[in-house]
Amino acid sequence: MIYLLHFQKPYKHARHYIGYTDDLKTRLARHRAGNGARLIQVINQAGIDWRLVRLWKGSRTDERRLKNIKNAPRLCPICNPQGVLKPGTQIVYTPLHAGDDIEHRDAERGFVTLAREIDAFCRYWRRDGSGLRTTTCSELTPIDRLVVYKTERAPTVRRLMREIKEGKL
Ligand SMILES: [Zn+2]
Repeated sequence: MIYLLHFQKPYKHARHYIGYTDDLKTRLARHRAGNGARLIQVINQAGIDWRLVRLWKGSRTDERRLKNIKNAPRLCPICNPQGVLKPGTQIVYTPLHAGDDIEHRDAERGFVTLAREIDAFCRYWRRDGSGLRTTTCSELTPIDRLVVYKTERAPTVRRLMREIKEGKL
């Protein structure tokens, strides 16, 4: 998969890192330890915190294509909330104590219904996969706790978004 890291503060002109891995957890741990990419090592040494903000299923070729766009801020939900967090965009919420571990037992999967500047209204799935946990209203979630990641079938989300708009949910 391809991952996008957002730096809390820019380093020179860099504010993002795009990488590819088959083992996200190990890869992020290596970045944290400074054994991954040189840029992240420098970021760590400068005392700049960073966070996983987006994941794509894809190959190294896709990674290269994304890198070649050379416009990572446009792809980042923190830098470009209105552009990235459209109604129906799938996300994983990671509470503070989960760091950016999307497999953490307290991490929750869902989708955005409406994004603002620093927070977004989201709906979340039940853990057993049997539909939405939050049926009556959306929950306001800070954008810097979200990882954009498409895990559910898109038609399901589209149908639910339609029902939400029509006031059926
Ligand atoms: Zn960003």
